[in-house]
Amino acid sequence: MKCPFCGDSNTQVTDTRENDDGDVVRRRRRCVRCDKRFTTYERIDLKMPHIVKRNGNRSEYERGKLLASMKLALRKRPVTTEALETAVDRIEARLLAVGETEIPSAQVGDLVMRELRKLDKVAYIRFASVYRNFADVDDFFNLVREVQPQSRPRQQESGPHSSSPSRLPDQSEHDLFDG
Ligand SMILES: [Zn+2]
Repeated sequence: MKCPFCGDSNTQVTDTRENDDGDVVRRRRRCVRCDKRFTTYERIDLKMPHIVKRNGNRSEYERGKLLASMKLALRKRPVTTEALETAVDRIEARLLAVGETEIPSAQVGDLVMRELRKLDKVAYIRFASVYRNFADVDDFFNLVREVQPQSRPRQQESGPHSSSPSRLPDQSEHDLFDG
């Protein structure tokens, strides 16, 4: 590490400490030649892949966007913010694990659906019904049947039907990265 004051490459580390999360290392350095002090920071360089939309356009991955669409699906459902954040962490870990610089938005959508399904069945149906752009009504009913508890077949009145996907406030917000 070159000294920013005199350009000499002979610097000494006088102090090293991590931040509380352990993901940033801060080093105090001293230039052997001019004796000036400076600080360097070391971070892990992990980059989220770009999202390739259905129309072929690419966009930056945005955690906020992902959170917003999942929050919309989870509206008034008994799921804590912490559980949601953890789910998004898992999605991001999977996206990073793919190890590609680009990833189709549909793949992100599938990861979201997988997490929502674990978090809350109603939110899962809400999201899936919009996200998948159901080809016909049968697809929707198949999905409802799929997630309904087997032991309670008579859920027609109070089940997920009461949260019809057609009554979502703004479907465009559900389009993930398909802006
Ligand atoms: Zn120097």
